[in-house]
Amino acid sequence: MSQSTAIIPPAKIAVIGLGNMGQPMAACLSRAGYEVVGFDTSDDARRKFSAAGGIAAPGVAEAVSDAALVITLLPDGTIVRAAIEGMKPHFAPGAVIVDMSSSAPMGTKALGQELIAAGFEFIDAPVSGGVKRAIDGTLAIMAGGDESTIDRAEPVLHAMGKSVFRTGPLGSGHAAKALNNYVSAAGLAAAVEAVAIAERFGIDPNKLVDVLNASTGRNNSTENKLKQFIISGTFNSGFSLALMAKDIRTADDLARQLDVPAPLADEVAAQWDEALKMLGSSADHTEIGRYSAARR
Ligand code: NAD
Repeated sequence: MSQSTAIIPPAKIAVIGLGNMGQPMAACLSRAGYEVVGFDTSDDARRKFSAAGGIAAPGVAEAVSDAALVITLLPDGTIVRAAIEGMKPHFAPGAVIVDMSSSAPMGTKALGQELIAAGFEFIDAPVSGGVKRAIDGTLAIMAGGDESTIDRAEPVLHAMGKSVFRTGPLGSGHAAKALNNYVSAAGLAAAVEAVAIAERFGIDPNKLVDVLNASTGRNNSTENKLKQFIISGTFNSGFSLALMAKDIRTADDLARQLDVPAPLADEVAAQWDEALKMLGSSADHTEIGRYSAARR
């Protein structure tokens, strides 16, 4: 990798989308010495970002002009495409665009090819680890696209993440991310069911979680979600049920597009879609525990 092309501090980075993830990830970039300018269509998000010491631009043009690298952290790929259409006339020549949202991989491939044909560089680099690891700068990042573009973006990615996986061509990061969240959601749903069955038998739910965590049923949800957000009833993990349902649906759609039978993914996707219908778009994803309880 040529150091002259790597994007290193104090280069200007634009972060588009200052929600649960965008705000702490932008803060990591500032701490690493980058000049960070953020933008969000929500006045409230821009206000919170400024109050936390960030520089919020009044519009996308001001945010992205002169930025060496532009990060999108938006709800889904359809919103990313529309936002990028609006920003395109204002991108600096040769700017690197990095979609760190969890977008649908087939749409990312098409969008990336269009941007590259227009003279920009583009990779997908979604993240995993939730708000806590976004704050700590220890996210797992899965980067798809041209190796030389990933080389240029890598110092920026390392300012937000502990590990950067190169997953392959354009869209492969988004495919890996959707599949990860499908596995994560299936594990969470199974653990929630197991706790309900244990409780009906007379086992203390916290005791079952202790057993799972010392046994082979242990997973990220048993360790980091059941006691913290579900059994405690706080349901405030900072990752919405709508976003999780979208990710599982993306994984299930990908299976269908690739003609891979995935009956469990069909089942899990249908369950989370129904939970979303019941609980609404403001619900936290850990409220899958409330959905499960309501069905008993
Ligand atoms: P969020 O809903 O908290 O934030 C999204 C932000 O985007 C909002 O502030 C919204 O106002 C803004 N926005 C929407 N349209 C916009 C536009 N056109 N231009 C500018 N801003 C716009 O979501 P989040 O939890 O921060 O997630 C962002 C992305 O990261 C999603 O794709 C999500 O699936 C993914 N993700 C989230 C988590 C998590 O734990 N929250 C973890 C990993 C990945």
